[in-house]
Amino acid sequence: MTESETAEWVRRLWKSGKNFYKTYAWVSFRARVMQKKKNRCEVCWNGGIDGKQVRKYRRATTLHHKKHLKDHPELALTESNMEAVCEDCHKLRHPEIYAKETRQKERWD
Ligand SMILES: [Zn+2]
Ligand SMILES: [Zn+2]
Repeated sequence: MTESETAEWVRRLWKSGKNFYKTYAWVSFRARVMQKKKNRCEVCWNGGIDGKQVRKYRRATTLHHKKHLKDHPELALTESNMEAVCEDCHKLRHPEIYAKETRQKERWD
């Protein structure tokens, strides 16, 4: 698929209320890329978000879209837009989601 075809396909999924992350195209793409990246968190392996920490191995749990899917559906299945990350690093990539979780925690703790 070309980028514009991919964008169109993703938008069609959204319109029909389907979950992109459940499509065969994504699941197989994700498996292939994760395997290439050795299922390893790239951020931790490269010394953390600022690159200044000790390099460490952590298992990646998420294949993150560097340019977020919502804003760049054309890059939905583009390997160079992918980053394998652990849960903690993924939270740092999405402060908007993380902030919400923290607020909820504060309310109930
Ligand atoms: Zn990490
Ligand atoms: Zn992400």
